[in-house]
Formats: sequence, C-alpha cells, structure tokens
Amino acid sequence: MTRVFNFSAGPAALPEPVLRQAALEMLDWHGAGCGVMEMSHRGKEFTAIIEQAESDFRELLAIPANYRVLFLQGGATQQFAQIPMNLLDGRAADYLVTGTWSKKAFKEAEHLAGGLGGRVRLAGSTEADGFTRLLRANELDLDPQAAYVHLCTNETIHGVELGEAAYLPATSAPLVADMSSHILSRPVDVSRYGLIYAGAQKNIGPSGLVIVIVRDDLIGRANAVTPSVMDYKVMAENGSMLNTPPTYGIYIAGLVFQWLKAQGGLAAIEACNIKKANLLYEFIDASDFYENRVERGSRSRMNIPFLLRDETLNDPFLAGAKAAGLTQLKGHKLVGGMRASIYNAMSLDGVRALVDYMRDFAARHG
Ligand code: PMP
Repeated sequence: MTRVFNFSAGPAALPEPVLRQAALEMLDWHGAGCGVMEMSHRGKEFTAIIEQAESDFRELLAIPANYRVLFLQGGATQQFAQIPMNLLDGRAADYLVTGTWSKKAFKEAEHLAGGLGGRVRLAGSTEADGFTRLLRANELDLDPQAAYVHLCTNETIHGVELGEAAYLPATSAPLVADMSSHILSRPVDVSRYGLIYAGAQKNIGPSGLVIVIVRDDLIGRANAVTPSVMDYKVMAENGSMLNTPPTYGIYIAGLVFQWLKAQGGLAAIEACNIKKANLLYEFIDASDFYENRVERGSRSRMNIPFLLRDETLNDPFLAGAKAAGLTQLKGHKLVGGMRASIYNAMSLDGVRALVDYMRDFAARHG
C-alpha cells in the first residue's frame, strides 16, 4: 500500500493512526461484536462514544460551560440556512464577505430573510479586490442592533484567514463564524463568539457531519417555520439525537480529537501548522516562478493557493506532482492555478516534499 501526500481541500487527508484504528475496530468495536456503523445510536456503546467525543472537543477548544455542542447533519451549507432560521429573530443581520464561502452564506440568508420577516445587510466585502485580503476595521458598516454578525474565519478557496483576535469586528452583536476549514488548527477564544460552526471534512472527520457550538442565550429563538430537526433548541434538548445522528462520522471525529490530544492539543498543532505554512509561503515568495496573491497579514495557514507565472505549465506541474505522490493540488476554478491544503493531518514532511518538488520543477522549466 502506498499512501500519497494528499493536499485535497476537503474531504481531506485524515491522520493515519486514526484510519488504522478505525480499520482495526471496523468489525468489532471494543468487544461489542459489531462495528460502530452497525450499532444503535441509543445503546450504551454509542452513548459512550458521543459523550467522549464531546468531552474531548470541549477540552481541546476550552469551550465554556454556557455553550452547547451539537453534532448535526447537512454540512456547513445547511448552517447557512439554519443560522438565519434560528437567529434572525425578525431583525437584521450583518454579513462580512471575504470569499466564496461567506458570500454563499450571505446569499442564502438573503434568500430566506424575507420569509423569516427579517433582513440581511452586506456589512463589508473584499470582492472588488478579488478576495485577496481581510476586511479592514474602517471598511465595516456594522449595525449595532444586528441580530448577529456573520463571518467566515478561513476562506478555503481564496486562502484568506482571520487569524488574530484583534481583527474581530467591534460589535456587541453575537459573532457567528464559519470555521469549517481551520477549526482545531489553532486555539480560539470561543467566548468571543455567539456561534461557531464547522463542516467536518477538513480537520475533523468524514463529510456529512457538522459541529455547531452555540451559546445558551442564542438557543430557543427559532422562527416558527423552522423544522424541528433544524431547531437548535430541539437538537440541544435531545443531545443531537432527535433523529439518528451521523454516528460513524461522530466516532471518527472522536478518534481525531484523541489524536489531537496525543499531539499535545491545539497549541502544539498550531506550532506545527505555523512551520508548515511558513515553509511553503517563504519558498513561494522567494521564487519568481510561483506566486501567491493574498495580502501577507491575511494569508491562510490551511489553504495556500499559488499560481505558476507561466500557466501553460499547469498541466505538466500537476502530472509531475502526481507521479511524485503529491495529489489534489489543482486550484479551485474560481482562482485557478494550484492550491495546497495543509490541514492538521498533513505532516511537515509532506510540505517539505511539495517544496522540493516545486523547486525541482522550477529548475527544470524556469
Ligand atoms: N464553508 C467553508 C469555509 C467551506 O470550506 C465549505 C466546504 N468546502 C463549506 C462551508 C460548505 O461545506 P459543506 O460542503 O459541508 O456544506
């Protein structure tokens, strides 16, 4: 068996020890005589799995006691709708648009707002600059009465990350953050947010699972039209089990949380993520063969888009990379070029192998 260095933006590489453990437990989980996919979500075995997963997740992110953790379905995209249904509350919400994902969230909220008796406002956008940077504080047009302010803290396609707490919009309205593509890559002060959500398929586990961290006072405000399966209150009261939850995804997420704890938690994984990102950015910036167009203070540690200055070399670059065991480097069609997604499970060795390949390719074609 040969495993490649997989730079997919998601579903993305998972830590190999997690996959090995899942393989070992596939037919018989801890003597249950069946695998996790085959057991009742209400039995004592799965109850132990979900409780441990929640407890490890809370520990990793130091989630305060007045926040609920929900393990839901429908991906991050379903949250684009679920958030206004639960929080819009007949008022207006502010949306910050810094890339494709926050724009999609804004569009979905705009689509639903009328029916929910509320409004959404575009409180700032970097689209005119091609989504190559974060919003600056003086560009924000925030409504102090907003029901919430929505932002995406890591734009997976454009490679823009809101890293430092200092950048958070100054508002008393609850911040609602899509952290799908950088959750668990660095410590976060959860108490600064009203709600955080993340699709699993980058740093957590298999697609289909989305985790929502929501402050108690934001639960119980859902618009009357909200289906019960989409109402945070109903889901919180039922321990995410109004219906059958994505059990296998929750189990894998739990294994990933244990792996992260064994790495030393989020401070340790962050140190590793900084090394990986610096290695790649420093190489790209020093080269006149490759280019990253994102403003320096806005660059993502997780998703690093880059262009070959000579675009006719894109296909040979990808073919050579694949032959060298470096896969899924093709950039998103909206940005073009290449993108290296280097989530928690990508090793420093993987990034070194990529940089070595890029150096060699440039020397052969430069
Ligand atoms: N938000 C971000 C930041 C994403 O990267 C993605 C998926 N790539 C989504 C939302 C949508 O996630 P899903 O496909 O799970 O709905």
